[in-house]
Amino acid sequence: MTAASSARSDAVRALTIPQELLPGDGRFGSGPSRIRGQQMEALQAASRTVMGTSHRQAPVKDVVARVRAGIAELFSLPEGYEVVLGNGGSTAFWDMAVFGLIERRSQHLVLGEFSQKFASEAKAAPHLEEPEILRSEPGGLPVASANPDVDAYAWPHNETSTGVMVPVQRPAGASQDQLVLVDATSVAGAAAVDLSQTDAYYFAPQKAFASDGGLWLSVLSPAAIERAERLAIAKDRWIPAFLSLTSALENSRKDQTLNTPAVATLVLLAEQIEWMLDQGGLAWADARTRTTSGMLQDWAARRSEITPFVSEPSARSQVVTTLDVDEAIDATAITSVLRAHGVVDIEPYRKLGRNQLRIATFPAVGEDDVASLIAVLDHVLDTTSDA
Ligand SMILES: *Cc1c(COP(=O)(O)O)cnc(C)c1O
Repeated sequence: MTAASSARSDAVRALTIPQELLPGDGRFGSGPSRIRGQQMEALQAASRTVMGTSHRQAPVKDVVARVRAGIAELFSLPEGYEVVLGNGGSTAFWDMAVFGLIERRSQHLVLGEFSQKFASEAKAAPHLEEPEILRSEPGGLPVASANPDVDAYAWPHNETSTGVMVPVQRPAGASQDQLVLVDATSVAGAAAVDLSQTDAYYFAPQKAFASDGGLWLSVLSPAAIERAERLAIAKDRWIPAFLSLTSALENSRKDQTLNTPAVATLVLLAEQIEWMLDQGGLAWADARTRTTSGMLQDWAARRSEITPFVSEPSARSQVVTTLDVDEAIDATAITSVLRAHGVVDIEPYRKLGRNQLRIATFPAVGEDDVASLIAVLDHVLDTTSDA
């Protein structure tokens, strides 16, 4: 960095941002993400009737039932699809898929850290063959292609580490018995999707659903359920009890989980799903996140110091906007002065290692707060431009 640019970074760090510019809520993180006040009130309301009570009894089971019914309604579940859930987050679901959904060999699109992690699990599993990996550089978008030698295709609906969204569509020419496993952790509930194009559409509650972490949820097709049931009794496959998809399925059908869930996470999640449905469901959430992420892209187009990291406009995420900052300004100076003012978690994904801002616009993030965030960023850049 030149002396001039380090002077500008120093000027950024030293700024006091006027109070009236700051957003009402400064949480713009990609997960855990902002939780609305009404959700916390719902948690408070449940503090003696649901919290601290058995997950095998009606009060907690009713919350699980609300979650399962709400997800079914939100995604307009196709005939025969089921909502399954369990403990361990999406990371656990990858391993459940390795044991219970991939039969012999999978194809993975790898376009960032999260999609890489699932591919690595499949590759390391001794009972599976070497997966087929279709890779693109961070910021790019690989395309799934039908291969008769795989029995499952895997990709993320939204690669949270880079801000790339991947279309959810069965690969042209894929056969009926090949499963499509979509990691929707950071976009489920925020973008329109046709679940008939998937066999497992899985996610966790701490992103678009504004709850806390620790759970996974997955919408399974009849074909995925049939595969899981067949692999569960296959003689040549050991499946750890905790990673058994069929156990999760049996428990979910009874509105329970295999082992004790975080009850607060379920309460916050149920509340958020019902709020989304009241607002207009998935179509509403899709429109809102397109608007708010569009505001950020428009801002980037206006600022000479800011360039969208994802060069292909149609691949840009509507929930995680990644924006490169001109090398003349240290992006960490920007994120740290914002953090000092309560505007948090817009640092880039740690392993990406870029001079970048990463801003999440999940459904709980309104247009007014995004407008304020943009005003704050303009203030930071404008008042330091001659430093
Ligand atoms: C956050 C995230 C995960 C990991 O979720 P956990 O619930 O923390 O295991 C996996 N995939 C994607 C795309 C994510 O954004």
